Amino acid sequence: MKIQMLDLSEQYQSLREEVIAKLDEVMSSSSFILGENVKKLEADVASYSKSSWGIGVGNGSDAIHIALQAAGIAEGDEVITTAFTFFATGGAIARAGAKPVFVDIDRETFNIDPDKIEPAITNKTKAILPVHLYGQMADMKKIKEIAGTHHLAVIEDAAQAIGAKHHGKNAGEFGTAATYSFFPTKNLGAYGDAGMIVTSDEDLAEKARVIRVHGSKPKYYHHVLGYNSRLDELQAAILNVKFPSLDQWSQARRERAAYYTKKINEQLGDIIQTPVEKAANYHVFHQYTLRLPYRDELQGFLKENGISTMIYYPMPLHVQPVFKDLGYKTGDLPETEKAAKEVLSLPMYPELKQEAQDFVLEKIIEFYRGRGMSSENSDGSRDKTAAGEGSISIA
Ligand SMILES: *Cc1c(COP(=O)(O)O)cnc(C)c1O
Repeated sequence: MKIQMLDLSEQYQSLREEVIAKLDEVMSSSSFILGENVKKLEADVASYSKSSWGIGVGNGSDAIHIALQAAGIAEGDEVITTAFTFFATGGAIARAGAKPVFVDIDRETFNIDPDKIEPAITNKTKAILPVHLYGQMADMKKIKEIAGTHHLAVIEDAAQAIGAKHHGKNAGEFGTAATYSFFPTKNLGAYGDAGMIVTSDEDLAEKARVIRVHGSKPKYYHHVLGYNSRLDELQAAILNVKFPSLDQWSQARRERAAYYTKKINEQLGDIIQTPVEKAANYHVFHQYTLRLPYRDELQGFLKENGISTMIYYPMPLHVQPVFKDLGYKTGDLPETEKAAKEVLSLPMYPELKQEAQDFVLEKIIEFYRGRGMSSENSDGSRDKTAAGEGSISIA
């Protein structure tokens, strides 16, 4: 059996006729840039995020960059964020001319630790940029309180978390703005690059619309320095076909996550830390990510057995060579660095079959049994000493 992290082909087959009809409609209309499909998607995603406006842009990285620029973040400003994220988060801050200030993460959720934010605030701090990693929202209630006290903007990087909730609210309902990526592998994925900003701040929305068209308003008159970053009609048409299925896909991801978690906790509960969904959260499992010992060896073993897994992310942003001038060093963010050594994401997508999950689970169990680390005896009883207690530390 061969099991990929993600298989987009089955989903495409189920939508194929509708997608092709929509693409044909766009090409026949000859309206390719900022037309009706983009308008519809902007309205639908904004209303889904309980925000007043959606601004479609070229990709999720530009969405962060443009949101920061439109919120007035510029040279000399500081933006507090997490180092345990995809590069684009920190890259967008630096591209906006600001300085990323990295703080440590919460050990259970892998998201920015709100208690670490306030000590990092200086008179240059202008914004907080939480990332809703793996599909679970950061503690936005606390972050919003801190931002309110210190008059800071909050830009939510929701690239991995469309449809996720925190206290019943979506990304975009807490922050000044939230940004989405529709990169093909995201929970709502285009067939190319695409992204969006959602906001209820009228001024920010208007500035973002101007920045994505070279800072042009009216056409050919430029008061701000923008660039070309637009969500195109073909991608928007595809996303309009997919969008109505999003909640159902999120539910399917949750079911698959619950299945992995139940089996792992039964068999290897002493060894592997399964994802922690906080009580206030609705996790959409963009990734199903474990924390476990012998991570690299397990990944190699699974690969030999045809199972692909991924490490999101092996090198935190504060120690990336490109950010060396910021002056961070290994040891500055202990929880972040520990997570980078211990996380492993398993295959996860809405169409993932139970037989495939069973095979993945079987191989993981086989790996730890081979190391004398199974936490369950053949009669089903738990035997902690057999788990090699003392030899592993994951908490
Ligand atoms: C994917 C992703 C982005 C960037 O989105 P692109 O559309 O690939 O530019 C930004 N932040 C996070 C956390 C992401 O996962």
